[in-house]
Amino acid sequence: MSETQTDRYPDLPEGVAQRQPLLWLNPGYGAGGHRAAGAPDPAVAEARFARCAALLEDVFPELQASVGRLESPLTAIPHFKDLIFPGESAGTWLLKRDDALPVAGSVKARGGFHEVLSLVEQIGTEAGFLQDDTDRRVLADPRVRAILGRHTLAVGSTGNLGLGIGLIGAGLGLRAVVHMSADAKEWKKQRLRKHGIDVVEHSGDYAAAVAAGRAIAQADPMMHFIDDEHSEALFLGYAAAAHELQVQLRAAGRPVDAEHPLFVYLPCGVGGAPGGILYGLKRLFGRHVHGFFVEPTASPCMLVQLACGVQHPVSVYDVGLDNRTEADGLAVGLASPLVAPLMKSLLSGVFTTDEPIFYGDAWRLEAAESIYVEPSAATGLRGPTWVLSSPMGQAYLRRHGLETVMSRASHVIWSTGGSLVPEDIRREFRERGSRVASSSAAE
Ligand SMILES: *Cc1c(COP(=O)(O)O)cnc(C)c1O
Repeated sequence: MSETQTDRYPDLPEGVAQRQPLLWLNPGYGAGGHRAAGAPDPAVAEARFARCAALLEDVFPELQASVGRLESPLTAIPHFKDLIFPGESAGTWLLKRDDALPVAGSVKARGGFHEVLSLVEQIGTEAGFLQDDTDRRVLADPRVRAILGRHTLAVGSTGNLGLGIGLIGAGLGLRAVVHMSADAKEWKKQRLRKHGIDVVEHSGDYAAAVAAGRAIAQADPMMHFIDDEHSEALFLGYAAAAHELQVQLRAAGRPVDAEHPLFVYLPCGVGGAPGGILYGLKRLFGRHVHGFFVEPTASPCMLVQLACGVQHPVSVYDVGLDNRTEADGLAVGLASPLVAPLMKSLLSGVFTTDEPIFYGDAWRLEAAESIYVEPSAATGLRGPTWVLSSPMGQAYLRRHGLETVMSRASHVIWSTGGSLVPEDIRREFRERGSRVASSSAAE
Protein backbone atom coordinates (compact mmCIF):
# COMPACT_ATOMS: atom_id res chain seq x y z
CA MET A 1 0.00 0.00 0.00
CA SER A 2 1.38 3.42 -0.85
CA GLU A 3 2.12 6.05 1.78
CA THR A 4 -0.85 8.11 0.72
CA GLN A 5 -3.30 5.21 1.17
CA THR A 6 -1.91 4.51 4.64
CA ASP A 7 -2.34 8.19 5.45
CA ARG A 8 -5.82 8.40 4.03
CA TYR A 9 -7.07 5.14 5.53
CA PRO A 10 -5.14 4.62 8.77
CA ASP A 11 -7.79 2.19 10.03
CA LEU A 12 -7.46 -0.20 7.11
CA PRO A 13 -6.19 -3.47 8.65
CA GLU A 14 -2.72 -4.60 7.67
CA GLY A 15 -2.75 -7.15 4.87
CA VAL A 16 -6.01 -6.07 3.22
CA ALA A 17 -4.30 -4.04 0.51
CA GLN A 18 -1.82 -6.91 0.00
CA ARG A 19 -4.70 -9.34 -0.68
CA GLN A 20 -3.86 -11.54 2.28
CA PRO A 21 -6.65 -13.84 3.47
CA LEU A 22 -7.42 -12.65 7.01
CA LEU A 23 -10.05 -12.31 9.72
CA TRP A 24 -10.99 -8.77 10.68
CA LEU A 25 -12.99 -8.12 13.84
CA ASN A 26 -15.45 -5.25 13.68
CA PRO A 27 -14.63 -2.75 16.45
CA GLY A 28 -18.19 -1.34 16.30
CA TYR A 29 -19.82 -4.71 17.02
CA GLY A 30 -22.29 -4.90 19.88
CA ALA A 31 -23.87 -1.47 20.04
CA GLY A 32 -27.31 -2.73 18.85
CA GLY A 33 -29.79 -0.57 16.95
CA HIS A 34 -31.63 -3.27 15.02
CA ARG A 35 -34.66 -2.92 17.27
CA ALA A 36 -34.78 0.87 17.15
CA ALA A 37 -38.11 2.48 16.33
CA GLY A 38 -38.60 2.72 12.58
CA ALA A 39 -36.12 -0.08 11.88
CA PRO A 40 -37.27 -2.20 8.93
CA ASP A 41 -39.47 -5.12 10.03
CA PRO A 42 -38.99 -8.53 8.39
CA ALA A 43 -42.56 -9.45 9.43
CA VAL A 44 -43.71 -7.39 6.43
CA ALA A 45 -41.89 -9.78 4.09
CA GLU A 46 -42.97 -12.89 6.00
CA ALA A 47 -46.61 -11.83 5.70
CA ARG A 48 -46.23 -11.09 1.98
CA PHE A 49 -44.63 -14.49 1.31
CA ALA A 50 -47.45 -16.16 3.25
CA ARG A 51 -50.33 -14.43 1.44
CA CYS A 52 -48.69 -14.99 -1.97
CA ALA A 53 -47.83 -18.68 -1.43
CA ALA A 54 -50.92 -19.99 -3.27
CA LEU A 55 -50.17 -17.67 -6.21
CA LEU A 56 -46.56 -18.86 -6.38
CA GLU A 57 -47.64 -22.48 -6.16
CA ASP A 58 -49.95 -21.93 -9.15
CA VAL A 59 -47.42 -20.02 -11.24
CA PHE A 60 -44.15 -21.86 -10.56
CA PRO A 61 -44.16 -25.67 -10.97
CA GLU A 62 -40.90 -25.71 -8.95
CA LEU A 63 -42.81 -24.43 -5.92
CA GLN A 64 -45.55 -27.06 -5.88
CA ALA A 65 -43.67 -29.43 -3.56
CA SER A 66 -43.36 -26.68 -0.93
CA VAL A 67 -46.94 -25.37 -1.47
CA GLY A 68 -45.62 -22.04 -2.65
CA ARG A 69 -43.12 -21.59 0.16
CA LEU A 70 -39.67 -20.41 -0.80
CA GLU A 71 -37.40 -22.48 1.41
CA SER A 72 -34.07 -24.26 1.34
CA PRO A 73 -32.87 -27.24 3.39
CA LEU A 74 -30.54 -27.01 6.39
CA THR A 75 -28.11 -29.93 6.20
CA ALA A 76 -25.44 -31.14 8.62
CA ILE A 77 -22.03 -31.61 6.96
CA PRO A 78 -20.15 -33.86 9.44
CA HIS A 79 -17.88 -35.45 6.83
CA PHE A 80 -16.70 -32.11 5.53
CA LYS A 81 -16.17 -30.91 9.08
CA ASP A 82 -14.10 -33.97 9.98
CA LEU A 83 -11.97 -33.37 6.92
CA ILE A 84 -11.27 -29.75 7.85
CA PHE A 85 -11.48 -29.73 11.65
CA PRO A 86 -11.54 -33.14 13.33
CA GLY A 87 -12.63 -33.42 16.96
CA GLU A 88 -15.53 -32.50 19.21
CA SER A 89 -14.36 -28.98 20.03
CA ALA A 90 -15.54 -27.58 16.69
CA GLY A 91 -19.27 -27.93 17.42
CA THR A 92 -21.80 -28.84 14.73
CA TRP A 93 -21.48 -27.57 11.17
CA LEU A 94 -24.57 -27.07 9.04
CA LEU A 95 -25.01 -25.88 5.46
CA LYS A 96 -27.95 -23.60 4.64
CA ARG A 97 -28.71 -24.71 1.10
CA ASP A 98 -29.76 -21.55 -0.74
CA ASP A 99 -27.87 -23.04 -3.69
CA ALA A 100 -31.00 -25.20 -3.95
CA LEU A 101 -33.60 -22.41 -3.67
CA PRO A 102 -36.26 -23.01 -6.32
CA VAL A 103 -36.64 -20.90 -9.49
CA ALA A 104 -33.60 -18.64 -9.08
CA GLY A 105 -31.05 -21.20 -7.84
CA SER A 106 -29.42 -18.73 -5.47
CA VAL A 107 -29.97 -16.61 -2.37
CA LYS A 108 -31.22 -13.87 -4.74
CA ALA A 109 -34.57 -15.67 -4.90
CA ARG A 110 -35.32 -14.40 -1.38
CA GLY A 111 -34.89 -10.70 -2.04
CA GLY A 112 -35.99 -10.95 -5.66
CA PHE A 113 -39.27 -12.72 -5.01
CA HIS A 114 -40.14 -10.30 -2.26
CA GLU A 115 -39.51 -7.16 -4.27
CA VAL A 116 -41.25 -8.46 -7.40
CA LEU A 117 -44.25 -9.65 -5.37
CA SER A 118 -44.52 -6.28 -3.69
CA LEU A 119 -44.48 -4.62 -7.11
CA VAL A 120 -47.14 -6.88 -8.67
CA GLU A 121 -49.35 -6.36 -5.63
CA GLN A 122 -49.00 -2.63 -6.13
CA ILE A 123 -49.80 -2.84 -9.85
CA GLY A 124 -52.76 -5.15 -9.14
CA THR A 125 -54.07 -2.74 -6.49
CA GLU A 126 -53.75 0.31 -8.72
CA ALA A 127 -55.55 -1.56 -11.51
CA GLY A 128 -58.43 -2.24 -9.13
CA PHE A 129 -58.06 -6.02 -8.86
CA LEU A 130 -56.66 -6.24 -5.35
CA GLN A 131 -57.84 -5.28 -1.88
CA ASP A 132 -55.90 -6.10 1.29
CA ASP A 133 -57.70 -9.40 1.73
CA THR A 134 -58.09 -10.49 -1.92
CA ASP A 135 -56.72 -13.94 -2.73
CA ARG A 136 -53.40 -13.18 -4.47
CA ARG A 137 -54.11 -15.86 -7.09
CA VAL A 138 -56.09 -13.18 -8.92
CA LEU A 139 -52.68 -11.89 -10.07
CA ALA A 140 -52.43 -14.96 -12.32
CA ASP A 141 -55.75 -14.12 -13.98
CA PRO A 142 -55.23 -13.45 -17.74
CA ARG A 143 -56.68 -9.91 -17.42
CA VAL A 144 -54.20 -9.02 -14.71
CA ARG A 145 -51.34 -10.73 -16.53
CA ALA A 146 -52.08 -8.60 -19.57
CA ILE A 147 -51.61 -5.51 -17.41
CA LEU A 148 -48.47 -6.89 -15.77
CA GLY A 149 -47.10 -7.64 -19.24
CA ARG A 150 -46.96 -3.92 -19.97
CA HIS A 151 -44.47 -3.46 -17.13
CA THR A 152 -40.76 -4.17 -17.29
CA LEU A 153 -38.35 -5.05 -14.51
CA ALA A 154 -34.84 -3.71 -14.89
CA VAL A 155 -31.86 -4.75 -12.85
CA GLY A 156 -28.08 -4.44 -12.87
CA SER A 157 -26.27 -7.66 -12.13
CA THR A 158 -23.09 -9.71 -12.39
CA GLY A 159 -25.38 -12.69 -12.91
CA ASN A 160 -27.40 -14.21 -10.13
CA LEU A 161 -29.64 -11.25 -9.31
CA GLY A 162 -30.44 -10.85 -13.01
CA LEU A 163 -31.15 -14.55 -13.28
CA GLY A 164 -33.36 -14.43 -10.20
CA ILE A 165 -35.33 -11.30 -11.08
CA GLY A 166 -35.60 -12.29 -14.73
CA LEU A 167 -36.98 -15.77 -14.06
CA ILE A 168 -39.32 -14.62 -11.29
CA GLY A 169 -40.60 -11.69 -13.34
CA ALA A 170 -41.11 -13.82 -16.44
CA GLY A 171 -43.08 -16.34 -14.37
CA LEU A 172 -45.43 -13.62 -13.17
CA GLY A 173 -45.87 -12.20 -16.68
CA LEU A 174 -43.59 -9.16 -16.54
CA ARG A 175 -40.92 -8.34 -19.05
CA ALA A 176 -37.38 -8.06 -17.78
CA VAL A 177 -34.18 -6.45 -18.89
CA VAL A 178 -30.90 -7.28 -17.18
CA HIS A 179 -27.94 -4.91 -17.36
CA MET A 180 -24.82 -7.00 -17.02
CA SER A 181 -21.27 -6.11 -16.20
CA ALA A 182 -18.27 -7.18 -18.25
CA ASP A 183 -17.42 -9.96 -15.78
CA ALA A 184 -20.84 -11.67 -16.04
CA LYS A 185 -20.53 -15.28 -17.15
CA GLU A 186 -21.55 -16.20 -20.68
CA TRP A 187 -23.76 -19.12 -19.56
CA LYS A 188 -25.83 -16.80 -17.40
CA LYS A 189 -26.45 -14.44 -20.32
CA GLN A 190 -27.45 -17.38 -22.51
CA ARG A 191 -29.79 -18.75 -19.90
CA LEU A 192 -31.53 -15.37 -19.51
CA ARG A 193 -31.94 -14.95 -23.25
CA LYS A 194 -33.37 -18.44 -23.53
CA HIS A 195 -36.16 -17.31 -21.17
CA GLY A 196 -36.93 -14.27 -23.31
CA ILE A 197 -35.17 -11.86 -20.96
CA ASP A 198 -33.29 -8.96 -22.56
CA VAL A 199 -29.61 -8.78 -21.69
CA VAL A 200 -27.76 -5.49 -22.12
CA GLU A 201 -24.00 -5.79 -21.80
CA HIS A 202 -21.87 -3.03 -20.29
CA SER A 203 -18.13 -2.73 -20.43
CA GLY A 204 -17.68 -1.54 -16.84
CA ASP A 205 -17.98 -3.28 -13.47
CA TYR A 206 -21.02 -4.15 -11.41
CA ALA A 207 -21.58 -0.61 -10.12
CA ALA A 208 -21.43 0.74 -13.68
CA ALA A 209 -24.05 -1.77 -14.87
CA VAL A 210 -26.32 -0.76 -11.98
CA ALA A 211 -25.89 2.93 -12.75
CA ALA A 212 -26.64 2.43 -16.45
CA GLY A 213 -29.74 0.37 -15.67
CA ARG A 214 -30.97 2.93 -13.16
CA ALA A 215 -30.60 5.81 -15.63
CA ILE A 216 -32.49 3.99 -18.41
CA ALA A 217 -35.31 2.97 -16.06
CA GLN A 218 -35.76 6.50 -14.74
CA ALA A 219 -36.75 7.65 -18.20
CA ASP A 220 -39.58 5.09 -18.49
CA PRO A 221 -42.57 5.06 -16.10
CA MET A 222 -43.44 1.47 -17.04
CA MET A 223 -39.97 0.28 -16.08
CA HIS A 224 -39.17 -0.64 -12.48
CA PHE A 225 -35.58 -0.66 -11.42
CA ILE A 226 -34.64 -3.23 -8.80
CA ASP A 227 -31.92 -1.33 -7.00
CA ASP A 228 -29.52 -3.77 -5.37
CA GLU A 229 -27.61 -0.93 -3.74
CA HIS A 230 -30.61 0.76 -2.07
CA SER A 231 -33.65 -1.50 -1.99
CA GLU A 232 -35.38 -2.07 1.34
CA ALA A 233 -37.76 -4.58 -0.30
CA LEU A 234 -34.84 -6.80 -1.30
CA PHE A 235 -33.34 -6.43 2.18
CA LEU A 236 -36.55 -7.50 3.91
CA GLY A 237 -36.94 -10.49 1.59
CA TYR A 238 -33.52 -11.68 2.72
CA ALA A 239 -34.29 -10.92 6.36
CA ALA A 240 -37.29 -13.25 6.25
CA ALA A 241 -34.82 -16.15 5.97
CA ALA A 242 -34.03 -15.74 9.67
CA HIS A 243 -37.35 -17.12 10.83
CA GLU A 244 -37.02 -20.06 8.45
CA LEU A 245 -33.62 -20.89 9.97
CA GLN A 246 -35.02 -20.56 13.49
CA VAL A 247 -37.70 -23.15 12.73
CA GLN A 248 -35.15 -25.49 11.15
CA LEU A 249 -32.70 -25.23 14.05
CA ARG A 250 -35.51 -25.97 16.46
CA ALA A 251 -36.57 -29.01 14.42
CA ALA A 252 -32.95 -30.21 14.44
CA GLY A 253 -32.87 -29.96 18.24
CA ARG A 254 -30.30 -27.17 18.20
CA PRO A 255 -31.10 -24.42 20.70
CA VAL A 256 -29.60 -20.94 20.43
CA ASP A 257 -28.74 -19.35 23.78
CA ALA A 258 -25.79 -18.46 26.00
CA GLU A 259 -24.78 -22.12 26.31
CA HIS A 260 -25.35 -22.83 22.61
CA PRO A 261 -24.09 -19.95 20.47
CA LEU A 262 -24.97 -19.70 16.79
CA PHE A 263 -22.27 -18.69 14.31
CA VAL A 264 -23.32 -17.75 10.79
CA TYR A 265 -21.00 -17.30 7.81
CA LEU A 266 -22.41 -15.31 4.90
CA PRO A 267 -20.83 -14.52 1.51
CA CYS A 268 -21.04 -10.78 0.88
CA GLY A 269 -21.30 -8.91 -2.41
CA VAL A 270 -22.99 -5.53 -2.08
CA GLY A 271 -24.22 -6.64 1.35
CA GLY A 272 -27.99 -6.88 0.88
CA ALA A 273 -28.37 -10.64 1.16
CA PRO A 274 -25.96 -11.29 4.04
CA GLY A 275 -26.93 -8.03 5.74
CA GLY A 276 -30.63 -8.77 5.56
CA ILE A 277 -30.19 -12.31 6.85
CA LEU A 278 -27.97 -11.23 9.74
CA TYR A 279 -30.33 -8.37 10.58
CA GLY A 280 -33.22 -10.85 10.80
CA LEU A 281 -31.18 -13.27 12.91
CA LYS A 282 -30.11 -10.52 15.32
CA ARG A 283 -33.75 -9.62 15.90
CA LEU A 284 -34.47 -13.24 16.82
CA PHE A 285 -31.33 -14.28 18.70
CA GLY A 286 -29.65 -11.03 19.82
CA ARG A 287 -26.14 -11.50 21.19
CA HIS A 288 -26.33 -15.29 20.92
CA VAL A 289 -25.87 -15.11 17.16
CA HIS A 290 -22.45 -14.18 15.80
CA GLY A 291 -22.43 -13.09 12.17
CA PHE A 292 -19.34 -13.13 9.97
CA PHE A 293 -19.25 -12.12 6.31
CA VAL A 294 -16.82 -13.57 3.80
CA GLU A 295 -15.43 -11.53 0.91
CA PRO A 296 -12.82 -12.18 -1.79
CA THR A 297 -9.39 -10.69 -1.03
CA ALA A 298 -9.77 -8.61 -4.21
CA SER A 299 -13.26 -7.30 -3.30
CA PRO A 300 -13.64 -6.86 0.47
CA CYS A 301 -16.02 -3.91 0.10
CA MET A 302 -17.88 -4.31 3.41
CA LEU A 303 -14.65 -4.76 5.36
CA VAL A 304 -13.13 -1.67 3.75
CA GLN A 305 -16.27 0.41 4.27
CA LEU A 306 -16.72 -0.54 7.94
CA ALA A 307 -13.01 -0.35 8.80
CA CYS A 308 -12.63 3.10 7.24
CA GLY A 309 -15.82 4.53 8.76
CA VAL A 310 -19.26 4.63 7.17
CA GLN A 311 -19.56 8.42 6.92
CA HIS A 312 -18.09 8.51 3.40
CA PRO A 313 -18.14 5.85 0.70
CA VAL A 314 -14.80 4.04 0.45
CA SER A 315 -14.39 1.43 -2.27
CA VAL A 316 -11.90 -1.39 -2.73
CA TYR A 317 -10.39 0.62 -5.61
CA ASP A 318 -9.70 3.48 -3.19
CA VAL A 319 -7.41 1.21 -1.17
CA GLY A 320 -5.58 -0.14 -4.20
CA LEU A 321 -7.48 -3.37 -4.90
CA ASP A 322 -8.74 -4.35 -8.36
CA ASN A 323 -12.07 -6.12 -7.61
CA ARG A 324 -11.11 -9.01 -9.88
CA THR A 325 -12.33 -12.34 -8.59
CA GLU A 326 -13.86 -15.51 -9.96
CA ALA A 327 -16.38 -15.46 -7.13
CA ASP A 328 -19.61 -14.69 -8.98
CA GLY A 329 -21.86 -12.34 -7.10
CA LEU A 330 -19.07 -11.20 -4.79
CA ALA A 331 -17.16 -8.99 -7.25
CA VAL A 332 -18.48 -5.75 -5.80
CA GLY A 333 -16.25 -2.74 -5.21
CA LEU A 334 -18.50 -0.62 -3.01
CA ALA A 335 -20.81 -1.79 -0.22
CA SER A 336 -24.50 -0.86 -0.17
CA PRO A 337 -25.03 2.50 1.54
CA LEU A 338 -28.32 1.13 2.91
CA VAL A 339 -26.72 -1.91 4.52
CA ALA A 340 -23.24 -0.80 5.61
CA PRO A 341 -24.49 1.55 8.37
CA LEU A 342 -26.76 -1.22 9.72
CA MET A 343 -23.84 -3.66 9.85
CA LYS A 344 -21.66 -1.25 11.82
CA SER A 345 -22.94 -2.62 15.13
CA LEU A 346 -24.42 -6.01 14.10
CA LEU A 347 -21.55 -7.65 12.24
CA SER A 348 -18.94 -9.52 14.28
CA GLY A 349 -16.32 -9.50 11.55
CA VAL A 350 -15.29 -10.30 8.00
CA PHE A 351 -12.88 -12.92 6.73
CA THR A 352 -11.40 -12.89 3.27
CA THR A 353 -10.67 -15.71 0.88
CA ASP A 354 -9.23 -16.34 -2.55
CA GLU A 355 -9.51 -18.74 -5.47
CA PRO A 356 -7.28 -21.62 -4.29
CA ILE A 357 -9.20 -21.78 -1.02
CA PHE A 358 -12.77 -21.63 -2.28
CA TYR A 359 -12.33 -23.71 -5.43
CA GLY A 360 -10.67 -26.32 -3.23
CA ASP A 361 -13.45 -26.18 -0.64
CA ALA A 362 -16.21 -26.50 -3.27
CA TRP A 363 -14.46 -29.64 -4.45
CA ARG A 364 -13.92 -30.99 -0.92
CA LEU A 365 -17.57 -30.37 -0.06
CA GLU A 366 -18.74 -32.35 -3.04
CA ALA A 367 -16.21 -35.13 -2.34
CA ALA A 368 -17.21 -35.38 1.34
CA GLU A 369 -20.96 -34.66 1.23
CA SER A 370 -22.04 -35.06 -2.42
CA ILE A 371 -23.30 -31.48 -2.41
CA TYR A 372 -22.49 -29.30 -5.40
CA VAL A 373 -22.33 -25.51 -4.88
CA GLU A 374 -20.84 -22.84 -7.13
CA PRO A 375 -17.36 -21.68 -6.12
CA SER A 376 -18.55 -18.33 -4.72
CA ALA A 377 -21.05 -20.21 -2.56
CA ALA A 378 -18.24 -22.30 -1.04
CA THR A 379 -16.47 -19.25 0.38
CA GLY A 380 -18.18 -19.47 3.78
CA LEU A 381 -16.82 -22.95 4.46
CA ARG A 382 -13.61 -21.55 5.98
CA GLY A 383 -15.52 -19.52 8.54
CA PRO A 384 -15.47 -21.93 11.49
CA THR A 385 -11.73 -22.49 11.03
CA TRP A 386 -11.04 -18.76 11.17
CA VAL A 387 -13.11 -18.38 14.33
CA LEU A 388 -11.86 -21.50 16.10
CA SER A 389 -8.18 -21.49 15.30
CA SER A 390 -6.89 -18.08 14.23
CA PRO A 391 -5.47 -15.68 16.84
CA MET A 392 -8.17 -13.13 15.90
CA GLY A 393 -10.93 -15.72 16.18
CA GLN A 394 -9.69 -16.88 19.55
CA ALA A 395 -9.51 -13.29 20.75
CA TYR A 396 -13.16 -12.92 19.73
CA LEU A 397 -14.18 -16.06 21.63
CA ARG A 398 -12.31 -14.88 24.75
CA ARG A 399 -13.79 -11.39 24.56
CA HIS A 400 -17.32 -12.77 24.45
CA GLY A 401 -16.75 -15.54 27.02
CA LEU A 402 -17.44 -18.30 24.50
CA GLU A 403 -14.38 -20.54 24.88
CA THR A 404 -16.06 -23.10 27.14
CA VAL A 405 -19.25 -23.50 25.09
CA MET A 406 -17.81 -23.99 21.62
CA SER A 407 -18.33 -27.76 21.55
CA ARG A 408 -22.07 -26.97 21.74
CA ALA A 409 -22.02 -24.25 19.08
CA SER A 410 -23.92 -24.42 15.78
CA HIS A 411 -21.95 -23.14 12.79
CA VAL A 412 -24.28 -22.33 9.89
CA ILE A 413 -22.46 -21.84 6.62
CA TRP A 414 -24.67 -20.12 4.09
CA SER A 415 -24.36 -21.65 0.65
CA THR A 416 -25.66 -19.06 -1.79
CA GLY A 417 -25.84 -20.53 -5.29
CA GLY A 418 -25.31 -23.50 -7.54
CA SER A 419 -28.31 -25.46 -8.77
CA LEU A 420 -28.57 -23.57 -12.08
CA VAL A 421 -24.91 -24.04 -13.04
CA PRO A 422 -24.84 -26.13 -16.26
CA GLU A 423 -23.05 -29.47 -16.18
CA ASP A 424 -20.16 -28.47 -18.49
CA ILE A 425 -19.36 -25.44 -16.31
CA ARG A 426 -19.53 -27.60 -13.18
CA ARG A 427 -17.00 -29.92 -14.75
CA GLU A 428 -14.58 -27.03 -15.29
CA PHE A 429 -15.04 -25.86 -11.70
CA ARG A 430 -14.50 -29.38 -10.38
CA GLU A 431 -11.30 -29.86 -12.34
CA ARG A 432 -9.89 -26.64 -11.01
CA GLY A 433 -11.04 -27.50 -7.47
CA SER A 434 -9.49 -30.92 -7.52
CA ARG A 435 -6.19 -29.44 -8.80
CA VAL A 436 -5.95 -26.85 -6.01
CA ALA A 437 -7.22 -29.28 -3.36
CA SER A 438 -4.56 -31.85 -4.18
CA SER A 439 -1.77 -29.28 -4.36
CA SER A 440 -2.65 -28.03 -0.86
CA ALA A 441 -4.08 -30.72 1.43
CA ALA A 442 -6.78 -29.09 3.58
CA GLU A 443 -5.46 -25.55 4.01
C1 LIG B 1 -25.44 -12.02 -4.75
C2 LIG B 1 -24.72 -13.13 -4.16
C3 LIG B 1 -24.19 -13.05 -2.87
C4 LIG B 1 -24.21 -11.81 -2.00
O1 LIG B 1 -25.32 -11.01 -2.04
P1 LIG B 1 -25.21 -9.42 -1.89
O2 LIG B 1 -26.57 -8.98 -1.62
O3 LIG B 1 -24.67 -8.90 -3.19
O4 LIG B 1 -24.24 -9.15 -0.80
C5 LIG B 1 -23.54 -14.15 -2.41
N1 LIG B 1 -23.39 -15.27 -3.14
C6 LIG B 1 -23.90 -15.39 -4.37
C7 LIG B 1 -23.71 -16.67 -5.13
C8 LIG B 1 -24.59 -14.33 -4.92
O5 LIG B 1 -25.07 -14.44 -6.16
